Amino acid sequence: MREDNCIFCKIIGGEIPSNTIYEDEEFKVILDISPATRGHALILPKKHVANLYEIPDETAGNVLKLAKKLAIHMTNVLHCDGFNLLQNNNEVAGQTVFHFHMHLIPRYKGAKNDDILYYTHETFTPEEMSEISESLKTD
Ligand code: 5GP
Ligand code: ZN
Repeated sequence: MREDNCIFCKIIGGEIPSNTIYEDEEFKVILDISPATRGHALILPKKHVANLYEIPDETAGNVLKLAKKLAIHMTNVLHCDGFNLLQNNNEVAGQTVFHFHMHLIPRYKGAKNDDILYYTHETFTPEEMSEISESLKTD
């Protein structure tokens, strides 16, 4: 439910202040304290789970519905030109706060840091690609 040493649980409980833009029974949405762009926000489920590996299916579905609603709303208000959803799981993937959160990142044409989220590409042989694809096939 609530984890004692979790900064996002403290924000949800009101012990630590935040700039809240949306709240309902299941979620609180706050501005990121160190925003990548103007309006960068975080969807926080109120029940503590560490990340995507732990989130209940129903909450996971509701996160995406809320992300869609807020993307439309934020785009209307902020006049951004595009939008990224970002969700990091485990340290190796850049997760620094271990309470699930979905980043809502408005993107603006010509912005200084328009290379955020840029990554380089690896090359795999056709055989490796086929092996990877075979190993990942699922129902
Ligand atoms: P992660 O790297 O885990 O995907 O993202 C964690 C995010 O939480 C970072 O973008 C960071 O700026 C934000 N953050 C960390 N501590 C606080 C805080 O106390 N308040 C708010 N509003 N955001 C925070
Ligand atoms: Zn928490």
